Amino acid sequence: MFKKILIANRGEIALRIQRACKEMGIETVVVHSTADSDSMPVFMADESVCIGPPKSKDSYLNMHAILSAATITGADAIHPGIGFLAENAAFAEMVEEHGFTFIGPSAEHLRVMGDKITAKQAMITAGIPVVPGSEGSLSSAEEALKVAAEIGYPVLVKATGGGGGKGMKVANSADELTEAFDMARSEAQAHFGNPEVYLEKYLAHPRHIEIQILGDQHGNCIHLGERDCSLQRRHQKVLEEAPSPALSAKDREFIGTLAVEAAKKIGYYSAGTFEFLWEDGKFYFIEMNTRLQVEHPVSELISGIDLVQQQIRVAASEALTIRQQDIVFKGHAIECRINAEHPETFFPSPGKITQYHPPGGPGVRVDSAVFADYTVPSHYDSLIAKLIVYADTRAECIARAKRALDEYGISGIHTNIPLHQRLLDAQGVVDGSYDIHWLEKFVGGTQD
Ligand code: ADP
Repeated sequence: MFKKILIANRGEIALRIQRACKEMGIETVVVHSTADSDSMPVFMADESVCIGPPKSKDSYLNMHAILSAATITGADAIHPGIGFLAENAAFAEMVEEHGFTFIGPSAEHLRVMGDKITAKQAMITAGIPVVPGSEGSLSSAEEALKVAAEIGYPVLVKATGGGGGKGMKVANSADELTEAFDMARSEAQAHFGNPEVYLEKYLAHPRHIEIQILGDQHGNCIHLGERDCSLQRRHQKVLEEAPSPALSAKDREFIGTLAVEAAKKIGYYSAGTFEFLWEDGKFYFIEMNTRLQVEHPVSELISGIDLVQQQIRVAASEALTIRQQDIVFKGHAIECRINAEHPETFFPSPGKITQYHPPGGPGVRVDSAVFADYTVPSHYDSLIAKLIVYADTRAECIARAKRALDEYGISGIHTNIPLHQRLLDAQGVVDGSYDIHWLEKFVGGTQD
């Protein structure tokens, strides 16, 4: 097992990884930008190294600075966390070339699954159903029009290298498609440095259902059930739950087994997530995330498995000791992503937290790195905490989430806590009937 792990990330996820390391008796090094010098991960780590100024490209994305920090501190392995370099194949390769272990899948898996077109092709080969669409990337608007005429409108133009809901444009007609094609390409170029786009049928009322898998380097793979992440704004997740209120035990078994088979066919190891849209009882693969997910705690709570510790173990070449038949899914879990943003305008709200009181009590977990007097920097994403609640039944879990949100005291900045409170009272959430478009209509006021 590793003696020292360098964590190349910040905020709650850096702290989450440290917690796993500490419980395993592994020392931690945290790298940080000057904007994060006074942050909880830095205070809690055994060692910390400042790697640059606030801008991500000069610090959290500075591969050479991170590798130098690993060298001078004598780390054995690097955990990239979520975002930043977590899905960067070149970084994973550099880490290994310098004699450290990359805590994640192989660079080859990052490369193939990180490109949505090669990922879809790999899944088709592995026998997984995908959303109908173009076979590869589209070279022109004319080609897009041709494919759209075949699959029928509405269609979605998506960035090959996309993520975070960026570079995605809906077109309801041929007229709209030409413009959507150009817009998606320029957004893709701006965000991902790659203008390539492809086309998919735009599904009218699907749910977003994803399967958490965990594989080792010895050919073993298990799944930890599904998460329902249909409550989204601008294609970004807001509240997630496990299990999905919509799936039957048979659906779960079917899609879980399919995901494990696909992972085995491509020889995948580490934690990973297969994302599907589910409509009219059918699953359609959309992408695979080759890393830990923000919403991983809901799976941890219903399965009793510490995903980060497992991820570290399999990176150290240990064989999985948990077999599929050992996993008993129990209870219900909900995660509310608490963002520093205005609950109605959604404008980011960085700044100083003047008072802070996190909720507690039975079944409440808060993954966060903020505290009273902490200043939320404006340079990074707005997620400041994850409130994860667990209870025996879904109804009890909703009641508990509402109770915990009522207890949550954060002053000095705006947060979306009021939005979560409204959501948990809304009929579509209470009865579990929501789909991926529901929340947008809800915040737009056209749905109760
Ligand atoms: P990203 O990598 O940017 O997160 P995804 O492919 O995972 O992009 O899609 C994000 C979200 O966008 C999905 O959860 C879903 O809500 C929506 N979406 C993606 N593809 C489709 C589609 N073909 N039809 C309808 N909605 C879609």
